[in-house]
Amino acid sequence: MFSALGEASMIEIQGDMLEGGGQVLRLSVAISAIVKTQIRIVNVRAKRSPPGLRAQHLNAVRAIGLLTRAKTEGLNIGSNQLSFEPGSTGGGSFRVDVGTAGSTNLVLQAMMPVMAFCDTEVSLEIAGGTNNPKAPTIEFLQSAVLPRIAKMGYRGSVDLVKRGFYPRGQGLVRASSRPADRLNPVVLTEFGSVVKVWGLSYSCRLPRHIVERMGKSAQRLLMQEGYDADIQLESLQINEHRCAVDPGCGLILFASLSSGGLLSGDALGRLGLPAEKVGEGAVSNLLQGLKRAAPVDKHLGDQLIVYMALAVGKSEIMVSELTLHSLTCIELCKMLLGVNFEVEGKLGELARITCTGAGIVNRAVHIK
Ligand code: ATP
Repeated sequence: MFSALGEASMIEIQGDMLEGGGQVLRLSVAISAIVKTQIRIVNVRAKRSPPGLRAQHLNAVRAIGLLTRAKTEGLNIGSNQLSFEPGSTGGGSFRVDVGTAGSTNLVLQAMMPVMAFCDTEVSLEIAGGTNNPKAPTIEFLQSAVLPRIAKMGYRGSVDLVKRGFYPRGQGLVRASSRPADRLNPVVLTEFGSVVKVWGLSYSCRLPRHIVERMGKSAQRLLMQEGYDADIQLESLQINEHRCAVDPGCGLILFASLSSGGLLSGDALGRLGLPAEKVGEGAVSNLLQGLKRAAPVDKHLGDQLIVYMALAVGKSEIMVSELTLHSLTCIELCKMLLGVNFEVEGKLGELARITCTGAGIVNRAVHIK
């Protein structure tokens, strides 16, 4: 099956390592595309049921393949092996349709590091789910990830055109980027104090009292902890162009810190779950980070590892919780970029993560 691609310089990655899910393949393929290393991933998502490629993973790899004119094998739903041989890191305009409610933001998680190191501008439209369980929401991407990596030198934007919820997805995000020269390191180790707590309570195709109740329950609980939260309400109805094709709702909260850090906590609604419980869930997630007094929450930690590994210089972050996702990203960055990470702290606990990046420089920007 894997005969067309050369075997000599191929690096084999165990898809069931550590977290053993989609994170392994999204990150390996992204780094492979940047440093132009051929990879083969075996046992793809072997720790998930069902294992193998699902629509979101398949489309993330396919999109990076298009972006980098790659040769690929094994790209079909359910496949448990794939190989990826990147070509030139071009750029251009692409449309990706996940075809399910699979997360547009996880496709972007895979593509954004590659977009930074493309030769030219990239413009993307991605259709799928914009607010999914166990994935970054579009708000998290826009308010937590993008501003942070912009400080590191990432030059791009992400816009929500239309929300997409389970089961049909069909939401739409537009992303664009200009090549970065190089990425600067990030240092975020101090908590400082909380400057502002804010958020968004959103819904589609549901009565307005849902966003009000989610928002009010969160405000009440936060007030008990001494935080006066400013929560915007967005109740989209069927005649509005940003409204999803399926009903859905959620709440995302942020706490901005005087040190420059930003913590988040979110929760999604589901049938049968009272709106107040969604508010409680988001508050409890935000408070976990606030109580541990680290400037980077567990989800942002997961996203920053690859940018730290690509950057020129030494990065250092304190995360509120060391996750298996972060440890997975660290192992892959070590393997594919040859960088060293130091981790002080245990899985599930507060941790300090330090890395001297590989210092990847975008030669296309330097030649211009
Ligand atoms: P699989 O089905 O294989 O688990 P997946 O591709 O859906 O795969 P993971 O590989 O588990 O998902 O990766 C999920 C990613 O989403 C991680 O990077 C994690 O940090 C991020 N994530 C999960 N929940 C949130 C959240 N609430 N906010 C922000 N990011 C999140």
